[in-house]
Amino acid sequence: MSEIHDRLDELKELGLFRRTRMVSGPQGPRVVLDGKPVLLLCSNNYLGLADHPRVREAAADAAMRWGVGAGASRLVSGTMTVHRRLEERLAAFKGTEAALLFGSGYLANVGVVSALGGAGRVVFSDELNHASIVDGCRLAKADTFIYQHCDMEHLAWGLRHAEGRGALIVTDSVFSMDGDVAPLEEIVQLARRHDVRVVVDEAHGTGCLGPGGRGAVHEAGLEGEVDVVVGTLGKALGAYGAFAACDQAMAQLLVNSARPFIFSTAPPPPAVAGALAALELLEEQPHRVEKLQANADTMRDELAKEGFEVAGSTTQIVPLVVGDAKLAMRICELAIERGVFAQAIRPPTVPEGTSRLRLALMASHTKSELRDAAQVLGRSALQAGFRPGTGVPVAAARDAAARESAAARPADSPAGPFDFEADAARVARAA
Ligand code: PMP
Repeated sequence: MSEIHDRLDELKELGLFRRTRMVSGPQGPRVVLDGKPVLLLCSNNYLGLADHPRVREAAADAAMRWGVGAGASRLVSGTMTVHRRLEERLAAFKGTEAALLFGSGYLANVGVVSALGGAGRVVFSDELNHASIVDGCRLAKADTFIYQHCDMEHLAWGLRHAEGRGALIVTDSVFSMDGDVAPLEEIVQLARRHDVRVVVDEAHGTGCLGPGGRGAVHEAGLEGEVDVVVGTLGKALGAYGAFAACDQAMAQLLVNSARPFIFSTAPPPPAVAGALAALELLEEQPHRVEKLQANADTMRDELAKEGFEVAGSTTQIVPLVVGDAKLAMRICELAIERGVFAQAIRPPTVPEGTSRLRLALMASHTKSELRDAAQVLGRSALQAGFRPGTGVPVAAARDAAARESAAARPADSPAGPFDFEADAARVARAA
């Protein structure tokens, strides 16, 4: 018992203690948070579809038609007509031969990465990839090489030294805590040169970037060039669940080897039908994607007026990096008191010393709401003792880390060692 209390006390001491907050009502731009009305600036309901009447109706109808639960895993008796229908629509949307539904994005990443990273092989993973990819690497029998964030030289170096053992490169398209986009074209080129596969997690790209919200892979003109695109249904598509879009052979391989697909109950029919309705709405109303991007631009402009450094983000995710965990929490609390909810994100979700408020825009925010929110955040930061613009400039910190890592790399040589041990520190950080 006392060990548990000790651990909780330690988290409190470090400013890393977490508790869930409660939202009453649906995930709209304005919600009631623990009894207080606030502007919601940290929901991934990017397109405002989670509470759209057509999505709600589709989910309710599905509950009446197919029931609430799928009752079994996909390979037993859990594959229902509604699953197949959504898989076909998602494949058409992503321009792939097949799409395979998973219970969540977490499960999809764990399943895909572990299925493709076999024993004796190497998985190459960006150091800021989502925790589900990190856990997929842990479950995979392959070794993991963590490359410096978006550092193509480091990735190329790792690929050269893997001596033909490379299995795949895996990356988020939009990084969930930084809002920047992976250099997908270079990643695909390197993958082709070294004959490894590419897996791209479009959790925050699907519905948000690219033509009609098809994602960052489409935006980069790489349709058909990526082996597996993972997307979630719980963010822009307003429901719950996820999918892997790929060719038929890959889908068959995943059906036979992705453990979360095989050993977990199929997604519930109401969530699947809700996502299907959301996908239809996205295809009918692509202006939602433009509105989301315009809102992100407005938010960045307004935050810059308050002195915040927002240059790293190019998407609907805008981080305000303040550094210290307790300071981030304090600013978050003060902003809530003033009616704006932007959750503080602390280690281990982000690296030590880069705690931040992670702002997530929605297409349903209005410009004036965003202008007011930026002022609230500016005032809250000042009151907490943080002067915007004096925080950790993330890009500069990254450049310094990249220089340090490049200097520490052994020179290229055909017999150069591939030192996974030395990489362990980065694996721990990415966790
Ligand atoms: N990948 C990324 C980049 C994410 O941000 C998330 C969720 N935060 C996931 C995967 C997991 O998706 P889900 O919430 O559907 O499990």
